[in-house]
Amino acid sequence: MNEVVIEKQPILSRILSKINNSLSSVQAYLLVGSNEEDLKKYSLLFTKVLVCPNKYSDNCSKCNICSRMSSGNFSELKIIEPLNGVIKKEEIIKLRNSFQTQSVEGKNQVYIIRDVELLNLSAANSLLKFLEEPDSNTIAIFTTTNLNAVINTITSRCQVIKLNNNNINNGFDLVKNISNLDEEQINIVLEFLFTIENNEVRAISKIKELFMDYFDTKELLKSSFSVILLAYKDALNYKIFENMEYFNNETGIKNISKNQSIDIIIKKISFILENIQKLEYNVNITLFLSNVIIGIGEITYGKSNRN
Ligand SMILES: [Zn+2]
Repeated sequence: MNEVVIEKQPILSRILSKINNSLSSVQAYLLVGSNEEDLKKYSLLFTKVLVCPNKYSDNCSKCNICSRMSSGNFSELKIIEPLNGVIKKEEIIKLRNSFQTQSVEGKNQVYIIRDVELLNLSAANSLLKFLEEPDSNTIAIFTTTNLNAVINTITSRCQVIKLNNNNINNGFDLVKNISNLDEEQINIVLEFLFTIENNEVRAISKIKELFMDYFDTKELLKSSFSVILLAYKDALNYKIFENMEYFNNETGIKNISKNQSIDIIIKKISFILENIQKLEYNVNITLFLSNVIIGIGEITYGKSNRN
């Protein structure tokens, strides 16, 4: 587990260091994240902190228990995963029995239940009974990508820890922050941009219902243009790096990137920047937008071919 990743998870790392320093721990944790791989990684890290007989530090290689956990060979750690989309009662009963018979090598006994929202009702009931048993050194770690689907009586017995989403959505959150628009508004802007790119005549004739019904003040126009700017930047990113920074490889932007040269995309970026500045002056919005649409078309096809 590398340090940088944990730094992006301030809540998790705070809890982990608290456990590590004081041994204070609750009986059940529920890790919530949007990414299965992250959940696997962090639940294992969490387990190591709870089980490692030393004070756990990154990549503990001193102890044989941590290295066995890394390789999946530590038999005290029980992991339950759904089978065919469900976790059944028998699994939970097997788990309880194994804890009653087994000797304890680590600091705590830990079990992980992945996709805990997939417990069926009778499995959930036996798990609740298990959680209520006064067995001080058995700790549960549950993971889910869908907190709302987890049965309430289980959630209420857990310390819920939400993981930061480090990956794909970050870029899109930036778009929201920069533009001050919500996801729905941003999608309207993108659709309008794709209409302009595909068929500027249609974009001009439908300018009202596709765009101006939603963005009718100068502030909103400015916001929408910042989205267009980021979309062109991402077309450029995709052209050069085959990867987007803001829009998670959105198909419409990919198409712009594939069909146009670097030179043309750069011209469009500076054209949009110019027009964002023009917005400072008092302009007639319809006329302004029509000119932008025509301008984008002229950059795409070359001015001379138009007449
Ligand atoms: Zn260790």
